[in-house]
Amino acid sequence: MDFQYSYQKSSKDFTPKNNKPPRKRKINYRKMIIVIVALALLIFGTIYVSVDLVTTWRKHDLKTDIPVRESLQNQPHIDASPTPKADENQAAPLKVVYLTFDDGPSKYTNDILNILKEHGAKATFFMIGSHLNRHKDEVKRIVEEGSYPGLHSMSHDVNKLYKSGGSSRFIEEFKQEQELVKDIVGFAPDLIRAPYGSKPHVDEVFRGDIAEAGFRMWDWTVDSLDWNLPDKPDKIAEQVSQSIHRDLEVILLHEREQTVEALPKILDILHDCGYEFKAYDSSEHVIANFSGDSRL
Ligand SMILES: [Zn+2]
Repeated sequence: MDFQYSYQKSSKDFTPKNNKPPRKRKINYRKMIIVIVALALLIFGTIYVSVDLVTTWRKHDLKTDIPVRESLQNQPHIDASPTPKADENQAAPLKVVYLTFDDGPSKYTNDILNILKEHGAKATFFMIGSHLNRHKDEVKRIVEEGSYPGLHSMSHDVNKLYKSGGSSRFIEEFKQEQELVKDIVGFAPDLIRAPYGSKPHVDEVFRGDIAEAGFRMWDWTVDSLDWNLPDKPDKIAEQVSQSIHRDLEVILLHEREQTVEALPKILDILHDCGYEFKAYDSSEHVIANFSGDSRL
């Protein structure tokens, strides 16, 4: 009823009356509304197109102008300082994380592979040569499920590897391990991780020798400290959570019980921060050694 009333009233208003001015005013008013609406649409449309263009440019820049290799070279060090969380609203999922598990293969390898599988993730395993024979099936499974069988020396012994007056013992151990892994998986992996990291034992000449022997070497960007946090899986996850901030992270983990317990949470955190999980791929090599040495 109200509607009908007002409608009738308003249509009445539009009927010509004796004098012209009122009608003229009504028409101007309608015109004004049309102009305002048109202007609003124009302004809104311009803003929308601009924002869209900026977003497109940004995506383009991220994809083409920031080589992953360089961003890592600039920040190859352990950085466990608290850092801001990644922006969850970021449009492009260009962040990559390489999870690395050291000191296996072990009785935990299958558990780690199971959890990775559940989360659709892959990883890189830096295995100790003297462990290989006892866990051949796990080594095969690592490769079958898309993860990478990295090398971590035969002995993992500081004295043997670094205190014999040169790089020859170190390189000898890695060549020996490379052959063993090749016998199990059918190809010779060339990515190594120096036990305890490349600093301070692996100097510039040493690194040159490693490169000349045909190896690549990774340290890490994030140390989970998992080896030192037995029975504290939440602390391990927290340590990872507080340390990640780069578009490319290489996270140091070990084949330990507490690490297995922390792993589902770590995977969730990384996933929520927009990281894509990758295993090492020699065709997409990135430099991740503490010295930023491009030979490795
Ligand atoms: Zn180790």
